[in-house]
Amino acid sequence: MSGRTYLDWNATAPLRPLARAAVVAALDEFGNPSSVHREGRAARGLVELARQQVAALVGAAPRDVVFTSGATEANMLALTPAYERSAAHPGRCGRVLVSAIEHPSVRSGGRFAADFVEAIGVTADGIIDLSALARRLSALAETPPLVSVMAANNETGVIQPIPEVAAMVHDAGGLLHVDAVQVVGRIGADINEMGAEFLSISAHKLGGPMGVGALVRRAGAPALVDPLIKGGGQERGARAGTENVAGIAGFGAAAAAAGETLAAEGARMRALRDRLEAGLRCGPVVIFGEGAERLPNTTLFAAPRLKAEVALIKLDLAGFAVSSGSACSSGKVSASHVLAAMGVAPELASGAIRVSIGPTTTENEIDSFIEAWRTVAAGLSRDKGGLAA
Ligand code: PMP
Repeated sequence: MSGRTYLDWNATAPLRPLARAAVVAALDEFGNPSSVHREGRAARGLVELARQQVAALVGAAPRDVVFTSGATEANMLALTPAYERSAAHPGRCGRVLVSAIEHPSVRSGGRFAADFVEAIGVTADGIIDLSALARRLSALAETPPLVSVMAANNETGVIQPIPEVAAMVHDAGGLLHVDAVQVVGRIGADINEMGAEFLSISAHKLGGPMGVGALVRRAGAPALVDPLIKGGGQERGARAGTENVAGIAGFGAAAAAAGETLAAEGARMRALRDRLEAGLRCGPVVIFGEGAERLPNTTLFAAPRLKAEVALIKLDLAGFAVSSGSACSSGKVSASHVLAAMGVAPELASGAIRVSIGPTTTENEIDSFIEAWRTVAAGLSRDKGGLAA
């Protein structure tokens, strides 16, 4: 769409050209990947190539990648009390501990009963409270829990100390699942360096198509024994249903493209993000999570007393697509659970605007956004309708 500036990459990223080409080409491979004939084998080849490409991006073995309909399903698949019993992991996970800033698909606790899901708080900068986690882990020493902590938050971009969390969880005999949706394809996300047992990934956040994702297992982690979708035994029994071949092929191509350009894209985005924040700081503005390590592409900010909902509409009319928090919660006027967990006052939180950029964002787009924001903010400050109560 000409005249539009898309600055909502954490909600979804535009399809990468190589991913688009892979999707289109795969639509012509009509065989069922489970069929043994040539047509089936051609489709299977596309799925297995994508499995290698996705595995390579996170340092896993291809056989440890389970394709799903997205990260929501991957999170649901991972969050189960039932893991393979072994000498290292002798029992079921009695509880699941999640950080208070997780995506709703993790906060819900997946397949744990509501009474067995506990939230661990975060600091004012939006980082998981490691001493609160340590206290819960030692209280639960008898039946070590499953712990689920996201690699970076979708609203603030704050990066979580995953290797430290992994060491604590493992010392306590528990298992770690990481929702890595916002980091994979943006910064290094090696499952072995993180130390997590499982990682969830979504294709559409890294330039692949929507409706496809993966749950990735680290070599040596317990096997998944509790499929969410049972049926024909696809995905080594972990996820039944004929594979979304075109979606998976697009996911693989996006993963390969993202992996090749990761370092260069990261540095470019960081420079643009810093330019944006310097421009915003010319007026009264609070940048959330500023003191923490953040993704190179995300800024969540608020101008005191301005309402995000009104600002978003004005920015949209001016040609800019930004968000007032996570896309999943926009449309409903509810306070951000992430900012609430960080202790941000509701009046300030109601003004939070998220700008998230991507590899094709330009300096020009950032400069014209800053200009548009200044005009909108000045207009809203004059007009009482744009001020929060
Ligand atoms: N986790 C996080 C952190 C997300 O940002 C999202 C997407 N909003 C999801 C999970 C869900 O991913 P999907 O859209 O693939 O279901």
